[in-house]
Amino acid sequence: MRIVFIGPPGAGKGTQAALVVERYGIAHLSTGDMLRAARDAQTEIGKLADHYMSAGQLVPDEIILQIVQDRLLADDCRRGYLLDGFPRTLAQAEALDQMLAQDSTPLDVVLELRVPDEELFRRLSGRARADDKPEVIRQRLVAYRQQTEPLLDYYQRRGLLQTIDGLGTVEDIFQRIQQVLDPLAERSARQQP
Ligand code: AMP
Repeated sequence: MRIVFIGPPGAGKGTQAALVVERYGIAHLSTGDMLRAARDAQTEIGKLADHYMSAGQLVPDEIILQIVQDRLLADDCRRGYLLDGFPRTLAQAEALDQMLAQDSTPLDVVLELRVPDEELFRRLSGRARADDKPEVIRQRLVAYRQQTEPLLDYYQRRGLLQTIDGLGTVEDIFQRIQQVLDPLAERSARQQP
């Protein structure tokens, strides 16, 4: 199963992503995690990315696409994957479509985790990451609304979008996600016996 997971910062994507990859036995590809690892390792890409991340801005598409393209080629992606935090711009979504079309491995579903702004602020203020300072949080939400939200329409038109209510307990939300993914997992198991 190939899944894209979209949602604003603080929506709970990371928590749900961990549950999803465990249940369905697929790889977890978080571009945020990859960038933080590159930053901590002080690689060239990491240093460049840090500049944008600490300002709450998106890292340029070329950098992200390079990272994702390499990662998708790894063996563990053959059984499927959850893309968490990618794509975040229309250019990234189009580039992803091209990569996947080349290999005839289209996406199965795009999950949107929807949470109102007030709740996002409440949750993010309780975290302690360097990019969770109030002004950086605000900037990350602006980036989401301006650059990432247009993707919802893009995937809606392709019939791939499923919106999940992101309010409630971790278990409630995961239940909702399973209701969408379980039938798709059965379908893809039938296609690849
Ligand atoms: P995340 O952990 O997904 O919230 O990502 C943390 C930060 O990494 C974001 O605020 C961006 O600066 C950067 N980032 C992660 N994924 C992407 C992406 N697909 N495109 C651009 N920037 C990204």
